[in-house]
Amino acid sequence: MAAAAAVPRASSSKTESYVDTKRRDDVRQANIIAARAVADAVRTSLGPKGMDKMIASANGEVIITNDGATILNKMEVIQPAAKMLVDLSRSQDAAAGDGTTTVVVLAGSLLKRSLSLLSAGVHPTAVSDALHRLSIRAVDVLHGMAIPLDLSNRDALVKSAATSLNSKVVSQYSSLLAPLAVDAVLSVVDPAQPDIVDLRDVKIVKKLGGTVDDTELIKGLVFDKKVSHSAGGPTRVENAKIAVIQFQISPPKTDIEQSIVVSDYTQMDRILREERNYILGMVKKIKATGCNVLLIQKSILRDAVTDLSLHYLAKAKILVVKDVERDEIEFITKTLNCLPIANIEHFREDKLGFASCVEEVSIGDGKIVKITGIKDMGRTTTVLVRGSNQLVLDEAERSLHDALCVVRCLVNKKFLIAGGGAPEIEMSRQLGAWAKELQGMESYCIKEFAEALEVVPYTLAENAGLNSIAIVTELRNRHAQGEINAGINVRKGQITNILEENIVQPLLVSTSAITLAAECVRMILKIDDIVTVR
Ligand code: ADP
Ligand code: MG
Repeated sequence: MAAAAAVPRASSSKTESYVDTKRRDDVRQANIIAARAVADAVRTSLGPKGMDKMIASANGEVIITNDGATILNKMEVIQPAAKMLVDLSRSQDAAAGDGTTTVVVLAGSLLKRSLSLLSAGVHPTAVSDALHRLSIRAVDVLHGMAIPLDLSNRDALVKSAATSLNSKVVSQYSSLLAPLAVDAVLSVVDPAQPDIVDLRDVKIVKKLGGTVDDTELIKGLVFDKKVSHSAGGPTRVENAKIAVIQFQISPPKTDIEQSIVVSDYTQMDRILREERNYILGMVKKIKATGCNVLLIQKSILRDAVTDLSLHYLAKAKILVVKDVERDEIEFITKTLNCLPIANIEHFREDKLGFASCVEEVSIGDGKIVKITGIKDMGRTTTVLVRGSNQLVLDEAERSLHDALCVVRCLVNKKFLIAGGGAPEIEMSRQLGAWAKELQGMESYCIKEFAEALEVVPYTLAENAGLNSIAIVTELRNRHAQGEINAGINVRKGQITNILEENIVQPLLVSTSAITLAAECVRMILKIDDIVTVR
C-alpha cells in the first residue's frame, strides 16, 4: 500500500513529497537516536561482570546499583521516546522482575537495525510487521530450548536465583541470599493455588549494621521500631495474646475547634478524673480479655496513646508497639491470624492472635520487635536484611527483590532456560535460518533483526573484558553444531555448556524480554510526529 501511494505522488510533484517525508523521517530518527542513547547508558551494566552505576540525585542522595530498572527509574529522561525505554524496563520488572537490563539492551539493538532498514528505504510498517513475526517466532525458539522444572527440585530454584544475584553488587553473598529467596517464596505458596505467589506476603525489613551475611529469614513478624516503654512497661512477653487495634487510647477530642475555659480548681480536678477513668476503663477492658501485647495503628487525628495511657498499660503489664503503619495492618493480621479491632466496644478475645514470644531485641544501631512462635501463622515471611552501610543495604534489598521475582517466575511458569547468552544466540541462529526461507523485504528485515539479538552475548563478552568478536563467533559455531546450551562462561573466559555451570534463568524472563522489547520498538517505529500541547 505504501509503495502504491508513493508512486503517483513521486510522478506528480517530486519536491513536495520529499519535504513531506523528511519531517517524518527526522522525527523517527530523532526518537530512535534518543532511545538508543538510553539503551547505551545501561549496556555496560549487563551481566555478571557488568559495571555498576552511581546515581547522585539533586537532593544529595546517592545510590549504587546494577539493576537496569532502578538505573533508568532514577535517570531523568525527558525525550518522550527515550521515556518509553524507561517504561519498557519497568514493564519487564513487573512481568518478570529480572532481565530489566537485557530488555533495554535488546530494544536498543533492534532500534539500531531498524534505523538502518529505514535508511535503506524499507517502509516503517514493513519493518514493524517483520518485527512482530520475529518476536512470535523467537518465543517458539525459546520454548524449544526450555527445560521443565519440578518445584520439589530446590537445587534448580536456588541455581536460578543465584544467577540473578550473580550480576549484583552483593554477588558475593549469593550463596546465602539465593536459598533464602527460594525458602521465602516457597513458604508463601498456598498449596490450594500452587501457581500463584503474591510477593506482598514477603516482607523485607532493612536494618543497618552487621553485614549482608547476617541477613536472615524470620518465621514470624518483625517491627523496625522500639517497644513503647517510657512508663516502664514490659519489653518481653511470653505466651503473648496480641491485639491489633485501630482506635486511640487517649481522651476523645471534639470535631470542631474550640477552647474551654476552666476557672475553678474542682472542675479542673473533675476533668482530669474523667480523663483518667476513661482511659482506665479502656485499659481494663483490654486486660479483661487476657491481651498482653498491643499493636497500635498510627493515628492522624489525635495521639494514639498518651503518657497517661502508656502508664496504665505498663501497670497492666501490656507490651505496646505504637505507630504501626496503616498499610502494614493487612500483612500483620494475616501473619498473626487475627482480626484488626476498630473500636473498644468490639474488643473480644476471639479477635486476638497468639504467639509464644514477643520481645524487643537490640540489633545494629537500634532495636527491633520480634514476634515468634505464632500460632496458626498465615502464609507470610519476613526477611531481615542487614548491611554495613545504607548503600549496600538498599542494593541488597533490590537484589533480593530480583531473586524473589525469579523464584516467583518459576512458580508461575515452571520452565528454565540456560543463561550466558545461549538463548539469544540460538534465537539468532534459528531465526536467521528462517529468514532464508522467507521472501522479499520480510526476509531482509528478519535477517537483520535476527542478527540484532546477538547483542546480548556480545555485550556479556565485552563487559567481561573478553574478545567479543572471537567469543561470539565461536559461540555461533558451537550452536551451529547443535550445542544449544553452549554459552559464555565469563569466569573461564571461554564457551562451555552453560547448564553444567549452573547458570540458568526462568524461561519467562527471556520470553518476556524479547516480546516486550519488540513491542516497544514497534511502537517507536510507528510514531511519525511529535505534537507538543501546552
Ligand atoms: P538483567 O538486569 O537484565 O537481569 P543482569 O546484569 O542480571 O541483567 O545480566 C543478566 C545476563 O547475565 C543474563 O543474560 C544471564 O544469562 C547472564 N549471566 C548471569 N550470570 C552469568 C554467568 N555467571 N555467566 C554468564 N552469564 C551470566
Ligand atoms: Mg538480572
